[in-house]
Amino acid sequence: MVNLVLVSHSPSLARGVAELARLMTQQSPLIIATAAGTGDENSPLGTNAEEIAKAMEEAYSDDGVLVLMDMGSAVLSAEMALEFLSPGKKAKFMLSSAPIVEGAVSAAVQASLGGNLEQVRAEAIGSLGNKAAQLSVPEESNVAQAQASSEAVPGSAVDAVIEIRNRLGLHARPAATFVQTAGRFASKIQLARTDNETRRSNAKSINAVASMGVRHGETVHVWAEGPDAPAAIDALKKAAENDFGEAEEAAVSTATVPVASAERSSKRFDGGLIGIPASPGYAAGPAIVLKLADPEIQQRTINDPEAEWERLSKALEAVRASTQQLRRQISRSATEYDAAIFDAHLMFLNDPDLLEKVRLAILDGHRNAEWAWSEAIQVALVEYRKIEDDYMRARAADVADIGRQVLIQLNGRAAALNIPFPGILIAADLSPSDTARLDRAMVLGVCTGMGGPTSHSAILARTLGIPAVLGCGEAIGEIAEGTPLVVDGSTGQVWISPSAQISSVYQEKIAEWRNLQALARQTSRAPAVSKDGIAVEIVANIGSAKDARAALDSGADGVGLLRSEFLFLGRLDTPEEEEQFAAYQEIAEVMGGRPLVVRTLDVGGDKPLAYLPQKEEQNPFLGKRALRLCLDKPDFFKAQLRAILRVSAGHNIKIMFPMVADIAELRRARSLLEEAREEVLRRGIMTAPKVDVGIMVEIPSAALLAPVFAREVDFFSIGTNDLTQYTMAAERGNSDVAYLQDALHPAVLRLIDRTIRAADEAGKWVGVCGELAGDPVAIPILLGLGVKELSMAPGSILAAKSLARTLDIAGLRDFARESLELESAAAVRFLAKEQLGLQ
Ligand code: PEP
Ligand code: MG
Repeated sequence: MVNLVLVSHSPSLARGVAELARLMTQQSPLIIATAAGTGDENSPLGTNAEEIAKAMEEAYSDDGVLVLMDMGSAVLSAEMALEFLSPGKKAKFMLSSAPIVEGAVSAAVQASLGGNLEQVRAEAIGSLGNKAAQLSVPEESNVAQAQASSEAVPGSAVDAVIEIRNRLGLHARPAATFVQTAGRFASKIQLARTDNETRRSNAKSINAVASMGVRHGETVHVWAEGPDAPAAIDALKKAAENDFGEAEEAAVSTATVPVASAERSSKRFDGGLIGIPASPGYAAGPAIVLKLADPEIQQRTINDPEAEWERLSKALEAVRASTQQLRRQISRSATEYDAAIFDAHLMFLNDPDLLEKVRLAILDGHRNAEWAWSEAIQVALVEYRKIEDDYMRARAADVADIGRQVLIQLNGRAAALNIPFPGILIAADLSPSDTARLDRAMVLGVCTGMGGPTSHSAILARTLGIPAVLGCGEAIGEIAEGTPLVVDGSTGQVWISPSAQISSVYQEKIAEWRNLQALARQTSRAPAVSKDGIAVEIVANIGSAKDARAALDSGADGVGLLRSEFLFLGRLDTPEEEEQFAAYQEIAEVMGGRPLVVRTLDVGGDKPLAYLPQKEEQNPFLGKRALRLCLDKPDFFKAQLRAILRVSAGHNIKIMFPMVADIAELRRARSLLEEAREEVLRRGIMTAPKVDVGIMVEIPSAALLAPVFAREVDFFSIGTNDLTQYTMAAERGNSDVAYLQDALHPAVLRLIDRTIRAADEAGKWVGVCGELAGDPVAIPILLGLGVKELSMAPGSILAAKSLARTLDIAGLRDFARESLELESAAAVRFLAKEQLGLQ
């Protein structure tokens, strides 16, 4: 990506321009470095070539860097700064005569859309065009702009029919991805359902796209017209093929539960109400009745429409900020998928169609902000409620939630939930943002009149671990504050004023439920020491901060494999270094001083990234995957390495490279790691004095050449999933060759053994992080062969620790060696089961 450097006499001007430009590019990884002022307190205004050279280093990109300057000495200093750079780097910089404010904004947008240096320069130069046209001033830059846009890429019109494969259709999240994708392109993009092509909608409007109600298997027609129309259509097609980034797991988790719409009439049983069991567990306590008065909407004609629009813009900004804050909070305690609910909220807040309607109502209609906003929200709600799909209709709750929050802001009140005492929260409906704010210590359970198991409130309650029964109907209104209640989140029963007998049954259930959870946590915490006194490290494979917590709860001694892909997949933009840093930091803090092995990115091939386009490969598993892809994109890779290194100080971080086949790859990766370290140190940030570096042994060549690799790494971790697929030439996801995919095959075991012996000789340790590590039948063999660390899914840890404590590892050596001599995986399994007394 092309980056920018802004050179100004005034630090506040440079900061302001950078802020403005960033506002236009939102989550783009674009670097906008600034160099401004002399640094001298007495005479602050001016420029300094050394500072500019530093900013140039910071913004350096192989794709080029555009430098925008204000005036006079800024140009001279920038030219001088170029002389401080190496000739190779210098060639990548272009000093631009464009105006700094408009130029920076236009260049930033073009760069974040992936334009090359020439396109970015042309945009910057032509940036005064619109202003000049508006003021009817013939400007040189108008000519430049006309030339740039006609010469660069002539406009064209392209269309395509796209099938929506998402299980729940084009609902809020995939719709958000659709809109984000369309938003990256300058072209005008419209779409319509193929069964109603006359009704075209703006593809950059979330409300328009989401409220089309496109269901699974239906098709939409997309038209793009403009300079990047073909690329836009391609990107949308790719996003659709990728199910708009919706993880299968996530789609299934909401799709497999029966979709129940908000049900108004109540079902009763002898002891109370029956609703939809939305979040398991039991809770008892007094009712806390939540009364959320709808914000008052006064309709007024206003005299100063500009000021009114400004007032609304501020309210929108405040709600955006609090939504982002909630998102961060939820991603710490729940999954990234759940946190992404709030991305859809952010999209509603930025919806161009919705905002344009409101803007016109205020500026032309002279309506006050509350009136204009609530009217536009009502229109959007009507559209959602028309959709013949329960899941999609339930999304109206999200729009209403956002609408309410903005009105609360306009009224100058904070949206706070007042929970006076611990108890069961009773509400007609609970918005996702209210649910996310629930305090687990005060809200023991939740019971609502509306909402179903697929509502975002239900998903959030589940992830927060609060028992919940939703959709109890209007009878919920009969429950008075303080009424004793019992919520059974497993059956959907809500007991109202339960008898003493029922209460005591549930008190027991609650105690048992809590004990079971606590017990599992306690026993698993102790280290796994074998009968003959060998400590086996049982660590976890994780993919998020939430997994890290689950791993600790399950008794993991640390993390043997952090699949860093979690941050990169299922989105359309690159996570910036800062975002990565925050994510790794959070996980490292959860782990305290325990080991945390961070595996660098393993994507590409079969796991493509929308923002790193790769050419199609015939054999993605044998293609440009993992380290191969990262080595080809050193800037991208170094951002990840810097983020990891920045967390290393004060934590027990180790770095692991995946898919290493050749020693040259390891050396190149290590040298980029060194560069990344220097860059971090140059910024004055500490890293740990030594960060252990290891490789995944998952390609036979690495196992065969383990003695060579062992000299240059601190540890090996064997990825038996890939090692088996590559050894047996049997693709890991292909069930037709499943009979060849058992990692206990002697061919794979011999490679494991070879790796361990090479490591032993070099004084290095070996772990296993493929699925085999958590397989109880395999554990005795792996430990007998000399594996020191087993890394597995958190759910397998308890059993693995218990098993390891029963083993005499020294006594297993002969049996392990014997397994190497067998002829098939089946024979190894038979022998292993016999050893464990299972045969
Ligand atoms: C492996 O290949 O065994 C491994 C742990 O890596 P992944 O499953 O992420 O490819
Ligand atoms: Mg692997």
